[in-house]
Amino acid sequence: MKNKRSFFSGRKKCKNGCIYCFSNFASNKFHEEMNELAFQQLNKFIYPICDSEISYQSENYLDSLLEMLGKQKGYKVISISTKCNWSDEKLLKLQTFNKIHAGEKIIKLSISFSRKNELDKFEPNAISYSDRISLLKKLKNYSIPTVVLIKPILPFVAYEEYKSLIDDCINICKDFVLGPLYVDKQSKFYNKFIYQKYQVEEKYCEWLKSIALCVKSPNYEKIKSYIINSGGTCYDSDAEFLETL
Ligand code: SF4
Repeated sequence: MKNKRSFFSGRKKCKNGCIYCFSNFASNKFHEEMNELAFQQLNKFIYPICDSEISYQSENYLDSLLEMLGKQKGYKVISISTKCNWSDEKLLKLQTFNKIHAGEKIIKLSISFSRKNELDKFEPNAISYSDRISLLKKLKNYSIPTVVLIKPILPFVAYEEYKSLIDDCINICKDFVLGPLYVDKQSKFYNKFIYQKYQVEEKYCEWLKSIALCVKSPNYEKIKSYIINSGGTCYDSDAEFLETL
């Protein structure tokens, strides 16, 4: 998958405050920012902001992104995930873009969840759980390609909590992407929740452009089976889902 993806950093930092946030790792600028020049050498799948949110960028950020993408030759997919509110006006822009460029360019917007409960403690400035469910419904109504992105699956969160999250989403969206947790050994989060409790392994992380510690939840496979047994489809990476579009 590696050579199919292009990553960009946000111009402005994310304010969602997730306590496990990977963008707090070390230097926190992984990739160049999106610009015309960088767009000339794009791979098939583009992550315009892999370490922040469009909502925290400038007013015209989305418009410039759509304009740059519209000029590109060949098949391209823009992949965005969010824990922020998206206005109807912005969703309409995505819908219109997808219609105009049907078969050539696609914008996909997934809704991100790390868990169902205690989001005020884990993601204090992101939108609430119920607002994410409402946004998922809206995306379906606007026919914008989407997935339920359960990432990171937190190893200390009970299987029952993820089952309940899946039950809430599956009648709205059948596509799920799962992902493990990447942790920063220097973080308070690591010391409080992971250290000496869970097995960690070193893995190369493409969007971080470095080796990072990865923790796979003991419930990962059970969660996957539950999605499949409930009639959903499960992907182990976003790129795997993008290949189906
Ligand atoms: S939404 Fe993503 S980038 Fe923003 S704080 Fe949470 S994990 Fe970090």
